[in-house]
Amino acid sequence: MLSVSDLTVRYGDVLALENLSFSVGAGQIIGLVGSNGAGKSTTLAAISGLVKSRTGAITLDGRDLMALAAHDIVGLGLVHVPEGRRLFPFMTVLENLELGAFGSAARNRRAEQLDYVFSLLPKLAERRQQLAVTLSGGEQQMVAIGRGLMSCPRLLMLDEPTLGLAPMLVEEIFRLVRAIRDNGIPVLIVEQQVVHALECADYAYVLESGHCVMQGHGRDLLQDDGLRRAYLGL
Ligand code: ATP
Repeated sequence: MLSVSDLTVRYGDVLALENLSFSVGAGQIIGLVGSNGAGKSTTLAAISGLVKSRTGAITLDGRDLMALAAHDIVGLGLVHVPEGRRLFPFMTVLENLELGAFGSAARNRRAEQLDYVFSLLPKLAERRQQLAVTLSGGEQQMVAIGRGLMSCPRLLMLDEPTLGLAPMLVEEIFRLVRAIRDNGIPVLIVEQQVVHALECADYAYVLESGHCVMQGHGRDLLQDDGLRRAYLGL
């Protein structure tokens, strides 16, 4: 489905990513984990066309994405939910969700997609008329993911969806990610919550200073002594 080969990104003199290769297949959750500055957000931004100073190859079902503008990439169904939620605080939950349905295909399926989002996130259905600013951090994150789903993704990319959330809410977000995968939308997830991300991911890549230093099935990586020492302090 999504294939990334030898992706290299520079911000001026800073080499943020070097020769990163990975793929996301149908029915998969793929994790990109690593500490601050490892290059995780840069990877998503390069895939979604927000960062143009990149080389390598990025394809979605064989189609080259490197020459496309960011809005065309969303139009193909590759939807990026950036770090930090970025909701409109004084708009309602419903209005924020509807903003996700901006492409013509998504607009045509707006009612159907809204039913789908509310079936996955019933709390949001109850609070549809509430202003986003009045929601808890976890609920706001759910609106951000729901807004991504309103764009009718064929593949969803989530950047640190659990940032700043209490442990119970972190688990709720990972349950949601699994439900999205189980409903047929593969997910590429960037996380600093290494344990949760690796438990959830079908396959994962560990990034350090712009390089992939380890890859494997999430649960296998969790057994790796080097990884446990570096990221879990064990
Ligand atoms: P975090 O979890 O802190 O977001 P990350 O793994 O997502 O970290 P990136 O944000 O992708 O890492 O950053 C990778 C490297 O690129 C870092 O060295 C960072 O300082 C640098 N970088 C990121 N964005 C820019 C930018 N706009 N201009 C210059 N350097 C940047």
